[in-house]
Amino acid sequence: MAARGITGTLYIVGTPIGNLEDITVRAARILGEAGLIACEDTRQTHKLLEHLGIRKPTVSYHEHNEAERTADLIARLEQGETIALVSDAGTPLVSDPGYRLVREAAARGIPVVPVPGPSAAITALSASGLPTDSFRFDGFLPAKPGQRRRALELLRDESATLVFYEAPHRIVATLEDIAAVMGEREVVVARELTKIHEEFLRGSAGALAAELKSRTAVKGEITLLIAKSDRPAEIEGSIRDAVEVLQRAGVPRMDAMKQVARERGISKREVYAEMEK
Ligand code: SAM
Repeated sequence: MAARGITGTLYIVGTPIGNLEDITVRAARILGEAGLIACEDTRQTHKLLEHLGIRKPTVSYHEHNEAERTADLIARLEQGETIALVSDAGTPLVSDPGYRLVREAAARGIPVVPVPGPSAAITALSASGLPTDSFRFDGFLPAKPGQRRRALELLRDESATLVFYEAPHRIVATLEDIAAVMGEREVVVARELTKIHEEFLRGSAGALAAELKSRTAVKGEITLLIAKSDRPAEIEGSIRDAVEVLQRAGVPRMDAMKQVARERGISKREVYAEMEK
């Protein structure tokens, strides 16, 4: 128990995305020193702790108990306990639980210290061969086909490399949607990163969909990257195109015009005038 008024520290610890050698020296030390390890799935984290020879109390912290667990963990931090938060793999909070806890800790003046490690998004990007100067990470695309296509429509003219997480049983359908919405665009499927069957597939969305369809099954974990649009300059010039892209994605006309005005830092009147021409 800490002295009155002295809180513990919340460490946000990155862990391997497959290859256990990817744990950092610092991450192993912090996990060994923490009073408590909050993990998504305690069984998964026990495998890592066993590999590191660490025995520590663990507590589950996942999307279904995040709300009530946050209060409990905050109380323990305020009593001076040091807590390490990990997810099943990679960097906590990146398409993983932890947001509530970090936000609440920061709001209460509890030190939140990141201990960086791998993340599938950055790992895939670094070896994809696609431009890395500007990229946009969007987590998982919607599982429902209609919503997924609309999401892709909205991203079609993005002038940054797009990075997503995707489930193996959806990858073919998603690639087919990308081909339909974005056309011949370079795509990279990064599968089983850092593991024995690591694989990078590069080509057009249509070609990769055909390649994966020809396999008996697609297994493993997948990060999907899409090359940036090669026509941003043209789109940028046309207010009408920008409004119409949003409308095709289901955004009502007035809302689309407001959004375009906001994004371009111009008045709504200018957008209306352009649309009336
Ligand atoms: N927080 C994690 C991170 O920083 O990488 C991501 C968690 S998210 C719930 C899990 C998804 O990440 C998987 O469904 C997959 O799309 C992607 N992913 C995780 N490990 C991967 C790997 N070894 N190879 C490719 N993609 C991976």
